[in-house]
Amino acid sequence: MTAFSFQDGNLYAEHVALRDIAQRHDTPTYVYSRAALTQAFTQFSAGLQGHDHLVCFAVKANPSLAILNLFARLGAGFDIVSGGELARVIAAGGDPAKVVFSGVGKSHREIEAALEAGIFCFNVESINELERIQQVAARLGKQAPVSLRVNPNVDAKTHPYISTGLKNNKFGVAFEDALALYQRAAALPNIEVHGVDCHIGSQITELSPFLDALDRVLGLVDALATHGISIQHIDVGGGVGITYSDETPPDFAVYTQAILQKLAGRAVKVLFEPGRALVGNAGLLLTKVEYLKPGETKNFAIVDAAMNDLMRPALYDAYHRITAIAPSNEAPQVYEVVGPVCESGDFLGHDRTLTIAEGDYLAIHSAGAYGMSMASNYNTRPRAAEVLVDGEQVHVIRARETTADLFKLERVLPA
Ligand SMILES: *Cc1c(COP(=O)(O)O)cnc(C)c1O
Repeated sequence: MTAFSFQDGNLYAEHVALRDIAQRHDTPTYVYSRAALTQAFTQFSAGLQGHDHLVCFAVKANPSLAILNLFARLGAGFDIVSGGELARVIAAGGDPAKVVFSGVGKSHREIEAALEAGIFCFNVESINELERIQQVAARLGKQAPVSLRVNPNVDAKTHPYISTGLKNNKFGVAFEDALALYQRAAALPNIEVHGVDCHIGSQITELSPFLDALDRVLGLVDALATHGISIQHIDVGGGVGITYSDETPPDFAVYTQAILQKLAGRAVKVLFEPGRALVGNAGLLLTKVEYLKPGETKNFAIVDAAMNDLMRPALYDAYHRITAIAPSNEAPQVYEVVGPVCESGDFLGHDRTLTIAEGDYLAIHSAGAYGMSMASNYNTRPRAAEVLVDGEQVHVIRARETTADLFKLERVLPA
C-alpha cells in the first residue's frame, strides 16, 4: 500500500483527500498514515523472525503518543534519550522492560527514573556516566543493566551534523578504551554488563558502514569473551536512511539479512534502534500558500509552514519533495518555497516547479521523522496540529496549539 497517492491529480492519505483535511483541520498540519507506520514496523521486523531480537523505535524521530502507542501495540521497544521520552513511552503504553536509554548527558534524576521503571538497558557513553549509574543504583538498591556505546570510528558517509561514529564526535567511548571500561563495569557491584552498543549516524544509505561497524563490535565481543566478560546482546543502533528524492537506501530485508549473517552462530540477542526509517515516509506536512511574491531573480511561494514547523531544510539544507495536492490551471513556475519566519534561512525548498495559486495547499513530503519532534515556537508561532489517517478516518492526535498556550507559563514582574 502507498500511504500517499495521487488520484486524478488529487493527493490522498490512504482514503482521505488532503484537501478535506486542510479544510477541516486548517494548516499547517502534519498528516500520518497508520498503514504506512504499521507496514514499516512489520517489514522491518519480518526479516528478524527466527533470531532473538528487539526493535526499539528511536523516540526522538517522532515522539507522538499515538505513534508510540501504535508501535507498542506491534511489540516494539523504544530507544530513549531523556527522562521525558521515558515518561512518554510509559504514557503511551510502552513497556519499560523494552526500553534502552542512550545519550551523553543522563542526569541523576533520569538515571533514577529509568532504574525505578526497570528499563532493559542503559547505553553508557562515558566512564563518568558508568560511575554515576553505579552510585544511583547502589543508593536505590538496584542492579543496572548496561551496554557501552562504543565508537567504531567508521565514516557513515552522511551529513556531518548527523554522523556520530567518528572519533571526533561527542558520542560513545573510544574503541581503544572499551576493554578497560568493560573490566571496570564488570567490577562494579550494582552494574550488570549486558551488551555492546553502537550507533554511527543517521540517514545512512549504504550498507557498508553498518557492516564495518558491526565487524569492529564483534571483534570487541570476542576480546571481552577472552577476558571472561560475556555479552548477551548487541545493539546495532539506528540510522537506516529513507528516500527523500533519489536516494536508494538498502531495503529492510537486505539490511537485516546482512546484519543477521554476521551474527550467525552467535547466541546473542540483536537490538535495532530505527527512527527515521519507520516514520519518515509515513508523514507529510500540509501547508497553505499565503502569497505568491514575484522577485527580481526569484519567485517566492510564501506558505503558512516555516522552519519552526520543519527545521530540517534550515538546519541541514535537507531536501523534501514538495507538491501541490490538487490540479490547477495555473502556468507552472519556479519558486523558492519559504515560510513567514524572519530569517533568510527560513526556507522549505529551493527552485521548485509548481503549478499553484494563492490559497492552494502544498504537501511537504517525507516529513514524518524529525519534523514535529524538532518543531519550536520561534516567532511565537503555535505548533502545527497532527492527524493520523486510518483508512477513511482522520484522528486528531495532537490539537493545534493556541497562542494563549504559548505564554501560559510566563509571568510579568509585580507592579
Ligand atoms: C537518533 C538515534 C537513533 C535513530 O536514528 P535514525 O537515523 O532516526 O534511525 C538511534 N539511536 C540513537 C542512539 C540515536 O541517537
